[in-house]
Amino acid sequence: MPTLLEIHNLSIEYKTRLGTARAVDNVSITLDENKTLGLAGESGCGKSTLGRSIIRLVPYPGRILEGEILLNLDEDVPYENGVVEKGQINLLQLDGDQMRALRGKKLAYIFQDPMTSLNPMERIGKHFVEIIKAHEPDTPKEDAQVRTKDLLEALDILPERVLDYPHQFSGGMRQRVMIGLGLTLTPQLLIADEPTTSLDVIVEAQILNLISDLKDKFNLTMMLITHNLGVLAETADSIAIMYTGRIMEVAPTEALFESPQHPYTQALLQSVPDVRKPDRKLSWIPGSPPSLTEPIPGCMFRPRCPHAMEICATEPPPLMKSTSGGIVACYLYEGS
Ligand code: SF4
Repeated sequence: MPTLLEIHNLSIEYKTRLGTARAVDNVSITLDENKTLGLAGESGCGKSTLGRSIIRLVPYPGRILEGEILLNLDEDVPYENGVVEKGQINLLQLDGDQMRALRGKKLAYIFQDPMTSLNPMERIGKHFVEIIKAHEPDTPKEDAQVRTKDLLEALDILPERVLDYPHQFSGGMRQRVMIGLGLTLTPQLLIADEPTTSLDVIVEAQILNLISDLKDKFNLTMMLITHNLGVLAETADSIAIMYTGRIMEVAPTEALFESPQHPYTQALLQSVPDVRKPDRKLSWIPGSPPSLTEPIPGCMFRPRCPHAMEICATEPPPLMKSTSGGIVACYLYEGS
């Protein structure tokens, strides 16, 4: 599969009252077309900041320090003052108008809380029509309405509900609408940030099934951000584990669950129930991550790692090839 997205050595920091926090630290990842990459880790590990940097909407006072975000654009995208030409482009070099042209059309983002992302004063149908008209102003309104109804059907929402307001939808239905809004213009990349966090387990399973169906139907390339590894087991082709802004491990999904390499990944999986292993004892990870405003030398997982060695306190471990077919940042695998 051709590569759609390449992130190289990306670093992002926030200036806070307590000091400067490096929320994303020298991160490099790639995502192939029609694949789903899961981005997982504890709250505050930088996964949402990384996701939002792709659409260049890092929340204030975040600042992208360095790196490249390369997108393989599949067609020319016109904007007010010209055209973003197809081919490999560095999103960090585009200006505001160029990024606005790509958001929605080529890069879509589903935010965590659908209620705050939908306009409570607008009917559901109008949200879709507005997106279509903003990017394709020549499309007749009637055509946009037909496309909206078709999309709602694909989301298992009755087309006549275009006339409803967001508050008339349940939490799960609102999340379906958000997914639909992301897909309206069939983007090249869909980034879903904790799409099931506020839902109960039954509705969560329905939404995950829907995402899997849509993935096949629309040939989607997705980045799925979540703290819940169980969510990724069914939906992701590969998983990147983040901790304190750094990538700890990346591996194909099955390999990561079967044979996690990094001590942090192993500990995360030990804390998740597994129906296939009902006798397994669950455990938790002692302590908490070090403060990002006071990073410790060497491996950031060191204070919580049962395998910590002297070398772990020197430099951050580089990413090395792992036997599971991925990469891992841990001195345990140096030279192996
Ligand atoms: Fe543990 Fe050292 Fe590996 Fe870090 S580098 S995870 S401290 S063994």
